[in-house]
Amino acid sequence: MTDGAKEKLSMREMLKLLLEIQGYDSKLLELEMRKSFFPDLLKQLKDEIESLEQELSQKKERLNEVKREIDSLELDLESEKNGLDTSQKRLMKVSNNKEYDAVQTEIRTHENNIAEIEQRLIVLMDEQETLEREVADIQEKYDETSRVNRSRISEIETNAAEIDGIIEKVRAERDHLASKVSRRLIRKYDMIRSGKQGVAVVPIVDRACGGCRQALPPQRIQEISAGKLVICENCGRIIVDVEKLNKS
Ligand SMILES: [Zn+2]
Repeated sequence: MTDGAKEKLSMREMLKLLLEIQGYDSKLLELEMRKSFFPDLLKQLKDEIESLEQELSQKKERLNEVKREIDSLELDLESEKNGLDTSQKRLMKVSNNKEYDAVQTEIRTHENNIAEIEQRLIVLMDEQETLEREVADIQEKYDETSRVNRSRISEIETNAAEIDGIIEKVRAERDHLASKVSRRLIRKYDMIRSGKQGVAVVPIVDRACGGCRQALPPQRIQEISAGKLVICENCGRIIVDVEKLNKS
């Protein structure tokens, strides 16, 4: 059925459709709301993994630095020890006091260097031990967080895709209904709705507007009962008699 040739509905029938359309619109609003939490949630889950990943890589990098420094110090230590050994052997063969003093100085220098290197090695080995423990801890935490978060991320993504599918269906049904209502009325409905937190059509409640509770004069109530388009003078919403609409 093309737009131009669509069957003419009575106002009562169109108001009944508007109520249904409003039901779909509320559903859409709720679905969009549910979806709106996903980006933040996803970001949080991804950030958590990323921050552990960074921490882990920093610790590993520092651990490698420490290991490299230890290796290099161990070479230095060996060379100092060799030097000390050589100097000590030379001390046996010195022939005068001057030479003796010079070799003694060499020996002291080697000994000082060895003490210094060993001191530094103790500090570094301590750090290495701490770092290895930290790396193992963070690795474990990373593995667990990454496993849990990735599974939640994929859950959320599946959920989002499902919601997208539902939104698409609901919107199609909504648009199909909207196509049956006159454009003027739909435009009015959309306009009221955008200013009234999604509620454009309200029922009569105790002879008053269900949107703002303003009492309605008898004549208005009659018009509403007759299925005419009545807009609340106070809040601007369309007022309908839901019971009567559903009987028709
Ligand atoms: Zn009202």
